Amino acid sequence: MKQRLKLLLTGLTVLAYCPLHLQAADRFAGVTVSTLPLGAGVFMLTGAGGNIGVSVGDDGTLIIDDQYAPLAGRIEAALAALGGGRPRLVLNTHHHQDHVGGNAEFGRSGVIIAHGNTRARLRTVQGLPASALPLVTYTDTVTVHFNGEELTLIHLPKGHTDGDTMVWFKNANVLHMGDQLFNGAFPYIDLNSGGTLDGYIANLRRVISDMPSDITVIPGHGPVADIRAVARCLQVIEDTRQLVSRALAAGKDDGEIAEDLASYAEWGQGFISIERWIDIIKRDQAQRGSL
Ligand SMILES: [Zn+2]
Repeated sequence: MKQRLKLLLTGLTVLAYCPLHLQAADRFAGVTVSTLPLGAGVFMLTGAGGNIGVSVGDDGTLIIDDQYAPLAGRIEAALAALGGGRPRLVLNTHHHQDHVGGNAEFGRSGVIIAHGNTRARLRTVQGLPASALPLVTYTDTVTVHFNGEELTLIHLPKGHTDGDTMVWFKNANVLHMGDQLFNGAFPYIDLNSGGTLDGYIANLRRVISDMPSDITVIPGHGPVADIRAVARCLQVIEDTRQLVSRALAAGKDDGEIAEDLASYAEWGQGFISIERWIDIIKRDQAQRGSL
């Protein structure tokens, strides 16, 4: 017993002296960056954090989002395996650190493009090097001509945040939706960064009505999707929002509301649990009520 206690204390001492950056790096020690081909020189990379979109071809390498800083080397290795080099262009879907952590590294040699609100929010992040900031910003849409592809960046207002971009590969028929899609899971809506539930729903409706019905969709999180998956997410968001509204009107508490949503349990397995989703709906409703 004494021996075990001694071992435990030694372990705790090691942890206590372990520099913070090493502990942070350890969090990613087991992460592998995997590649999924989507056709026409377009790929999706998964590791930890938001899914990455890739275009590799004659003009060089372009990436959409770059996950966390400690993964930059593994992302570069995955790009090299596709015959690509360091990215010439980096598109950011929004400012969250699980999507832009590699900016500091890739922005040293590539041009970062994002919505103006995303740059404004990144500028307020303490200690972020200048290389992590977008060099080019846009307002509504902008088109990049790269590797024989027309990539249109389209601003999705007041959804996940106030600076979201989706990227449409017209020729490859692929759409990167950033965190405007959590495929098969409740979405995170960043109400403190200009996100709203009404906006999130309107943006999903816009994708369903405006995009080709056979388009391949890269979600911010979750497996590769299609328009049917987008429609399913929209349906779940609208249904659960209505259930929560009704339950609140009936004076139910959080435990009773969670019971009303029990049949959606599998949607709460990701980053946003049922309890967090109920909280987002309630806070969004309160914010709208105070407008
Ligand atoms: Zn996000």
